[in-house]
Amino acid sequence: MGNELLTGDTLDTNGRFLTRAVESLGLAPRFKHVAGDREEDVILVLRDAASRADVVFVTGGLGPTEDDLTRKSVARAFDRRLIFHPELLPPIRDYFARAGQEMPPDNERQALLPSGAKPIPNPLGTAPGFILEDGRTSVIVLPGVPREMRGMYEASVHSYLASRFRGGETWEVRTVRTTGVPESKVNELLGNLLDLSRNPQVGLTASDLGVDLRIRARAGSRDAASGMIDALVEDARARLGPAVYSEAGEGLEQVAGRLLAERRKTLAIAESCTGGLVGARVTSVPGSSAYFERGIVSYSNESKEALLGVPRSILAAHGAVSPETARAMAEGIGRSAGTDFGLSVTGIAGPTGGTAGKPVGLVYIALAVRDGETRVEEHRFPGDREMVRARSAQAALDLLRRHLTGC
Ligand code: ATP
Ligand code: MG
Repeated sequence: MGNELLTGDTLDTNGRFLTRAVESLGLAPRFKHVAGDREEDVILVLRDAASRADVVFVTGGLGPTEDDLTRKSVARAFDRRLIFHPELLPPIRDYFARAGQEMPPDNERQALLPSGAKPIPNPLGTAPGFILEDGRTSVIVLPGVPREMRGMYEASVHSYLASRFRGGETWEVRTVRTTGVPESKVNELLGNLLDLSRNPQVGLTASDLGVDLRIRARAGSRDAASGMIDALVEDARARLGPAVYSEAGEGLEQVAGRLLAERRKTLAIAESCTGGLVGARVTSVPGSSAYFERGIVSYSNESKEALLGVPRSILAAHGAVSPETARAMAEGIGRSAGTDFGLSVTGIAGPTGGTAGKPVGLVYIALAVRDGETRVEEHRFPGDREMVRARSAQAALDLLRRHLTGC
């Protein structure tokens, strides 16, 4: 609820969180409504939603001010009176007291609930939420602030929904991630596994980084559902081969980082067109200092010579975007950092700078291995600058991952 959601100034991450959160209960969203800050409109969407769903989530608009309409609108939409609950005030007062403040009088409004509603405590903020059962529909009202909404869902709402909807069945969900194979090819390789009537059900989501498989299994117990997913994942792995890099929804930086840590290997990175994206992803993982030594963003030819030791003759003969330069960058950074691996990226991210011989999207990635052979890969990525850069970083991490797993 709220104007800022309607205009897109705030993106609805609450909806995404709740969708994921109820998945294990076998619940899937059918509709999403967004209403601005007008009481009539909020009432309209509330009635509409309740008329066609067993569960309606409402987030936002529980604040203390007059323009926080949700409490009032829910009461009117379901013909309830607003009832003052004195027992809800002390936690709100305490919240202010912890910050050394008095509760402003306006916050008393937050102790009003539609008649029949059960309050949901909010340990991280002031506004309590509530659950209102109207006929067969549960209307679950939570604050807009994502942190508060999540905390309350996890502490109170999930168990409420589980006791209402589980009905002896459990859903397990897992995300298997792949990279380097286009969605159409994944589709073809998985074939009948994607039939919607199957249990487990498999859905595909494609992004610049690759294709994810969302696997949902329904069974009488957690273990049974989990076993069904294991079997499906094994089958999918056999069909997709080394394109699969995680069975637990992790990013490549986590997977490659773990492999480096396990093998006690170290890494240095030299980046041109990705401008530090690879290093940023590697260092986003806690504990990466155990294996990441340094990263250098080297954009100009001069810096490739000065910082990475790329011979001027190579740059002159082959250009900055060439397999020869990628190789020299990887070997140079590995040598000067004294690491087991030197990883490099050089390419043309566009939109300008492409030629007939070297089009936008042409990217070379190299992995120098101490006392081993340097691997160089050529890629031709489609898309705009942002996409080429994201795909380049992903391909670089994947080259490292494939080397570490022996593919
Ligand atoms: P408050 O007591 O802070 O006023 P509230 O329950 O009234 O809380 P809102 O005022 O609607 O909630 O939203 C508070 C903040 O939470 C917004 O500024 C916005 O940044 C964020 N927010 C609201 N709705 C969503 C949503 N669907 N997804 C992500 N963030 C949201
Ligand atoms: Mg508000």
